[in-house]
Amino acid sequence: MKMANVSECAVSECAYNTGKSCHAIAITIGDGAHPMCDTFFKSSAHGGIKSQTAGVGACKVASCRHNNDFECSSESIKVGICEDHGDCMTFSMR
Ligand code: SF4
Ligand code: SF4
Repeated sequence: MKMANVSECAVSECAYNTGKSCHAIAITIGDGAHPMCDTFFKSSAHGGIKSQTAGVGACKVASCRHNNDFECSSESIKVGICEDHGDCMTFSMR
């Protein structure tokens, strides 16, 4: 199984975001119910690996049709802004 790529993230204030891309090695989506980005944290410093874009290492949202055994089977996902955090916009209810 290939890791889903994070093709875009709109949460510019997140520490891993530079140029609308996520530069963590991998992120975790979900708190068990809501498809939020669980790796998000707000910082004025921006880190990660700038030459790489993130994959989805784990997803806890079993209600999504792309979720297989708590992993994301989509080729890629997009993360957008929801209130004060990021949400997986590729989420789709089973
Ligand atoms: S909110 Fe999540 S997907 Fe977006 S840059 Fe931060 S860690 Fe990456
Ligand atoms: S598309 Fe679905 S399974 Fe994949 S990360 Fe988003 S919520 Fe999780």
